[in-house]
Amino acid sequence: MALEEYASKRRFSDTPEPPPNLKAGKSGTNYFCVQRHDATRLHYDFRLEMDGVLKSWAIPKGPTLDPGVKHLAAHVEDHPLAYGDFEGNIPAGNYGAGSVMLWDYGTFDLLGGVSGAEQLARGDVKFRLHGQKLQGEFAIVHMKGRGKGNEWLLIKKRDEAAVSGWDVESYAYSALSGRTQEEIARNLPVRKAKRKTAGAADRVWVSDRSAKRTAKAAKEPKASPVKKKRSSTSAA
Ligand code: MN
Repeated sequence: MALEEYASKRRFSDTPEPPPNLKAGKSGTNYFCVQRHDATRLHYDFRLEMDGVLKSWAIPKGPTLDPGVKHLAAHVEDHPLAYGDFEGNIPAGNYGAGSVMLWDYGTFDLLGGVSGAEQLARGDVKFRLHGQKLQGEFAIVHMKGRGKGNEWLLIKKRDEAAVSGWDVESYAYSALSGRTQEEIARNLPVRKAKRKTAGAADRVWVSDRSAKRTAKAAKEPKASPVKKKRSSTSAA
């Protein structure tokens, strides 16, 4: 059943991550996000909204705009839609303990001519991303018969958004709050000046639960650029 594995790994009394509620969050928006997660090992969690959940892959080297490199993406459990705006800290002793940065978010166009479910089943999902950092066409492809069966590759297609030699670590700040990983880990306030990013996501939804959490972390909710941004984008 959807989100059962997600729920079984977490104690929601101890972690600020959203509970496995299938009705929370806005569905049907073709939302994608990438979370930079400083857990036991730093990795990037890549998530695509499909069938009311976030299909998820953990990418140790992160996504890239360089079409010349293919990065391993380990398929992991579905996450609830409400996870899509999660940024914060998973306390020690919990699954995935460490800081989580909302590194990028936006929408995607599904390519490939058939449904996302069919593309997932055949192990080859094609899409175009409209994020703040990630843009253009990608494919995520299952390497059948390899490892535990959960190994996929995230591949940037050659198009106008491709950049050879692109370095993910040059963009190590939150697309939501502008904070670095360390600033998130220390619960420091959101940055006042918005960082320059290539293109803006045209829509994002933010749950009330997360809004309260972010405001509390910022300790100055009235001045929060996240809050301003939310009010200007929540209609989408
Ligand atoms: Mn993770």
